[in-house]
Amino acid sequence: MSGGADFVKGELTAAEEPLICPAKALRFFTGGFDRQKGQVMDINSTAFLMIDIQNDFCPGGTLAVADGDGIVPLVNRLQERFSVRVLTQDWHPADHSSFASNHEQAEAYSLSQMAYGDQVLWPDHCIQGTLGADFHPDLNTDKVDAVVRKGYRPEIDSYSGFFENDRKTKTGLAGYLRDREIKHLVLAGLATDFCVHYTAVDGANLGFQVTLLDDACRAIDLHGSLRAALQAMATCGVVVSTSSEIFA
Ligand SMILES: [Zn+2]
Repeated sequence: MSGGADFVKGELTAAEEPLICPAKALRFFTGGFDRQKGQVMDINSTAFLMIDIQNDFCPGGTLAVADGDGIVPLVNRLQERFSVRVLTQDWHPADHSSFASNHEQAEAYSLSQMAYGDQVLWPDHCIQGTLGADFHPDLNTDKVDAVVRKGYRPEIDSYSGFFENDRKTKTGLAGYLRDREIKHLVLAGLATDFCVHYTAVDGANLGFQVTLLDDACRAIDLHGSLRAALQAMATCGVVVSTSSEIFA
């Protein structure tokens, strides 16, 4: 982890609105870890990452996250507060190996062994070029700087916006963010315990300071996955906060 030292209060001008990132949520998950009371981040070196806000992950979709569409109005409002905005998009071929339908007698949500380790088998979702793979129709994409697609290799799933599930194949997102001199990532999207979680952990391990906005995410919570995700993110120094806290 690095990057925290780059956010110095005195460097902001009066015209720039500081993001206050309190650590109380992090303290909650780490049982009293005493961080400094909040940091001010430079909005110009902060990227707002919106993870997989697509039709198939919203009610009515094939892999719907409960109330997944409920984050869209908030995410649209939040976009106005950031100067760098990036979307990720789950983007699978129809023969993708993460689909239960491509394995004989496999049930959706069961575990399978891939060359790279355990893989949950999902219902078919976010198939390239389909309505299900489109962003939610109410999500404002006009001001988005970049869209990073992932999961397009048939043999590898990709939860993280940075690496596919073999944990080695890069999507190119880290290079893009570094070229834009981004130090801090603020995350929103679907789902908290899968794609947001893996993106947050990878971002932290790559040296970005990472804040997850809990009120701008929704979880699947499959077999305790939400609790496990929150613990893993806390271990990596990801701050779990809310939109009202960072814009207090
Ligand atoms: Zn997927």
